[in-house]
Amino acid sequence: MKMKIVCIPGDGIGPEIVAEANKVLDRVAQVYGHEIERKSVLMGGCSIDAYGEPLTQETIDACKAADAVLMGSIGGDTTTSPWYKLPPEKRPEAGLLGIRKALGLFANLRPACLYPELAAACPLRPDIVAKGFDMVMVRELTGGLYFGPRSTEERDGQLVATDTLVYSEAEIRRVAIRAFDVARKRRKLVTSVDKANVLDSSRLWRKVVEEVAKDYSDVTLKHQLVDSCAMELVRDPGQFDVVLTENMFGDILSDEASMVAGSLGMLSSASLNETRFGLYEPSGGSAPDIAGKGIANPIATILSAAMMLRYSFDLDAEADAIERAVKETLAAGIRTGDIMHGDTDGLTRVGTAGMGDAIAERIR
Ligand code: NAD
Repeated sequence: MKMKIVCIPGDGIGPEIVAEANKVLDRVAQVYGHEIERKSVLMGGCSIDAYGEPLTQETIDACKAADAVLMGSIGGDTTTSPWYKLPPEKRPEAGLLGIRKALGLFANLRPACLYPELAAACPLRPDIVAKGFDMVMVRELTGGLYFGPRSTEERDGQLVATDTLVYSEAEIRRVAIRAFDVARKRRKLVTSVDKANVLDSSRLWRKVVEEVAKDYSDVTLKHQLVDSCAMELVRDPGQFDVVLTENMFGDILSDEASMVAGSLGMLSSASLNETRFGLYEPSGGSAPDIAGKGIANPIATILSAAMMLRYSFDLDAEADAIERAVKETLAAGIRTGDIMHGDTDGLTRVGTAGMGDAIAERIR
């Protein structure tokens, strides 16, 4: 297969971790006989330095012309970098919001799984950790409370603030379809999270999700209230496969699931639109404190590249090969500094490139 990929290395550790993901992708292409056409574009702080704006039309056009985008991270030290003296719409993060909007990325996927070798980083009780977990949070990204009409006005001598939670059937249906498609590639269980005992928007959510489920008779659908889900994520995370939810619930629950999974350097993510196109990036930021030192953990970006192969190119065997190589590398005791937890006897500390090499050489 010929894959047309745009890379946005970004700022800070971004270029270092994207280079390692590309190393692993090149190895996959070599082993499985694929061709990768790559273009690298600027976004964030480096784009401000080069063009005076965090996101240019050229970057948007390049992304639109590609099959998928692999991103590092953008931004700098928010207290010392001159980028943060600019007005908000000119700062690096404005590029991130701009690109998501320009590409119509409405579904955000964040896996949270426990690697037994990294169990010491998991804040849960050992008996819960022992059961393991492997879930994907599918969050609606462009609707709901964060995008509805809002106002603050004075009424009867006091300020009154209003936010509006709006969802249309079409917005719910398209993200639900995404979640069911993801479940088909996994253990075929969707837990749809809402607050249908209180909110109209949640009752519509539940109705539309049930309609979508009729087209997926091989996938089991469960409904769960958001408050109960928040508890179950720490009580028994192993029960979840795909968790589907709206924007604000997903914002909160995906951070909870990430925390339960442990290390930031391990967390991949994907943002998808209606087509097979997606933007893939690690969940962490640009880590200016360690940028340029060659010690950043590239695994989250490498796992994001695996998601890219799975969701934008339908290359499940190749994605499995990357995920297996990551597991084997961890099992071999190879660690970057951020994941040197617990007893470090028998562990080998490597830098960013060393980790990329170790994973690339385990691709088969
Ligand atoms: P951060 O995620 O960059 O760093 C938090 C801590 O985690 C730091 O100690 C850092 O060294 C560590 N860390 C992060 N990724 C790591 C990795 N791969 N390997 C090893 N250690 C890692 O969060 P922050 O410091 O709050 O933000 C720094 C900048 O990143 C800010 O400008 C912020 O706006 C930006 N940011 C960008 C994105 C994105 O591009 N999607 C996301 C979050 C934050």
